[in-house]
Amino acid sequence: MTMRLASFVANMTRMIAKKKSSPSKHQVKRAEWKLRRAGGLQILEAPALERIGWLVHGFSTRPGGTSELASGDAKTERVLNLGFTEWDSREHVEENRKKFFHAIGADKMRAVMLRQIHSDVALRVDSQAAESAEAPQGDALFTREPGSLLVVQTADCVPILLADTKRRAVAAIHAGWRGTLRRITAKTLGRMQMEFGTRPEDMIAALGPGIGRCCYEVGSDVARDFHAQFPNAREWFEGPFDALASGENDPNWLPWLTMMPPGHQPPPLRAHLDLIAANRAILAEAGVPPRRISSSGFCTACRRDLFFSYRRERTTGRLMAAIGIR
Ligand SMILES: [Zn+2]
Repeated sequence: MTMRLASFVANMTRMIAKKKSSPSKHQVKRAEWKLRRAGGLQILEAPALERIGWLVHGFSTRPGGTSELASGDAKTERVLNLGFTEWDSREHVEENRKKFFHAIGADKMRAVMLRQIHSDVALRVDSQAAESAEAPQGDALFTREPGSLLVVQTADCVPILLADTKRRAVAAIHAGWRGTLRRITAKTLGRMQMEFGTRPEDMIAALGPGIGRCCYEVGSDVARDFHAQFPNAREWFEGPFDALASGENDPNWLPWLTMMPPGHQPPPLRAHLDLIAANRAILAEAGVPPRRISSSGFCTACRRDLFFSYRRERTTGRLMAAIGIR
């Protein structure tokens, strides 16, 4: 109970702090991104990418599709589900994908998708590569070939799109906490440096809608892993990061330390992780100028009117982020 009260107070303090500083940095960032209406859908676009004439890109949103998602009270909601899920039919997903690709102007492009496994595997896409029926395993795609549309799917994890404005190369990345921990964004950039001669200072990075710090509660396992990997990990967490990272709050030890009978221990501590801040920092550390990194400012769990949140809803759809060279 005291934990709940503490987190309530922390939330209130945050809300008040946000109201005082207006306009906050957060709000300015959000204003930069826009929702464009196209073919009955709303496509989220990063202005820094939208300005580049030789590429197509877009982040999908929830409304406007043909899938029927049960929303309680025996009602169904029409949504743009772009991933094959148990509750949805293949036909609906394929129709939705067609609508999305059309809305971003990528009808004629070859869509390349992954079987995402929360890894740090980045795959290069070549037009010469043999077409395989099965999607390759990995969590990032990069290319310099026109005509290929690189696609990642998310529902809380952060979709990240990269564009090298000098060498004309692009990448699409799926970064959840595991991929972030493994520095998938920096590794993808590293591959582009090695294979295309990409310079980090020529890179534009767009971090799409993912679960925000406001809603992303994690335990000691995640805190400990981040603490082991990043000297500045503390900056991306809100809450008792040090206690979690040091293992002081290990549930196996707690009963001994507090001398409480089993079942009467306080609930394990939790902290909030900011995946956007972590990926921003990883990109900046890799040499991408901070002014060339932008984020949508949307939290998928807060904005279930616009996005899908696996954490919040469990039974839900999948969003897509796509980028390609015309
Ligand atoms: Zn949120």
